[in-house]
Amino acid sequence: MFYQLDQMDTTVDDRCSAKCPRFAEFLHYNFEVRRLVYRQGRFRRAGNGGEVDWEEKIIKDESFKGTKAECVYEKLLNSSTGFKKMIQKFDGDFPVSHLRFINDPSMASNTRKAYATPPSNYVIDITINGNSSKDASYQKRPNLLVAKTIIHEVIHAEIFRKLLSLSNNNGSINAITLSNMLQNGDYPGILDYYARFGANDFQHQQIAAYYREVIVEGLKEFDNSSNADQLYEDLAWEGLIYSNDPTWSSLSSSEKTRIKNVINNYINQYQNQSCQ
Ligand SMILES: [Zn+2]
Repeated sequence: MFYQLDQMDTTVDDRCSAKCPRFAEFLHYNFEVRRLVYRQGRFRRAGNGGEVDWEEKIIKDESFKGTKAECVYEKLLNSSTGFKKMIQKFDGDFPVSHLRFINDPSMASNTRKAYATPPSNYVIDITINGNSSKDASYQKRPNLLVAKTIIHEVIHAEIFRKLLSLSNNNGSINAITLSNMLQNGDYPGILDYYARFGANDFQHQQIAAYYREVIVEGLKEFDNSSNADQLYEDLAWEGLIYSNDPTWSSLSSSEKTRIKNVINNYINQYQNQSCQ
């Protein structure tokens, strides 16, 4: 069920093999990332064998450690093969980018559950709302929906990672390079959505259309399929409900109301759930 992610890799590869200069460029960026990460000394050599041992591949900020959010993250990693596969893309010997989880105990929003920050110096941050006085905090939210938030944000991170691999500038996304690629007529996968919905809005449109099943599968595995599939389908919509989204808009108004009710009822039913 995780073919969407791989399919997008294939799209990039197809684009590259069809256009040799672009492929060279693609390799160049990846090589640059590897060389710079190497130069910045983000590795240490283990023993005398000289085998490179990468440390801190997935970075857990101190604020994240020991929290319910970390507990849910670990359960997700252990239960969902698809989620693990996504995380491993940040965890290889030569990742394009590192991933860091942060808990913000003073996030002011009552509705924002988390956000992903574009790569900076090869690190993409996922910051989770840990302000226990807010409805959007992981403390108040059901475990299954905290899991949903984590998967949703890792998908954002995955999109950022792909954009970085196409347009890296010292570990940040180079918007000019991306724009040039678009103007050259290169519209594979992500770039197609980037072109249609703009730099800021395209991610949710793309997630709703192509990555929603990734969320559904992750939730199902996390929950050991103890509920009907429809519940996971409905919960996966949380965070993707936008009136200008073509996928959401294609649903009937009664279906939209039903999904919103399912989400709200689930939140009320499992408020303040703990994770052990
Ligand atoms: Zn989002």
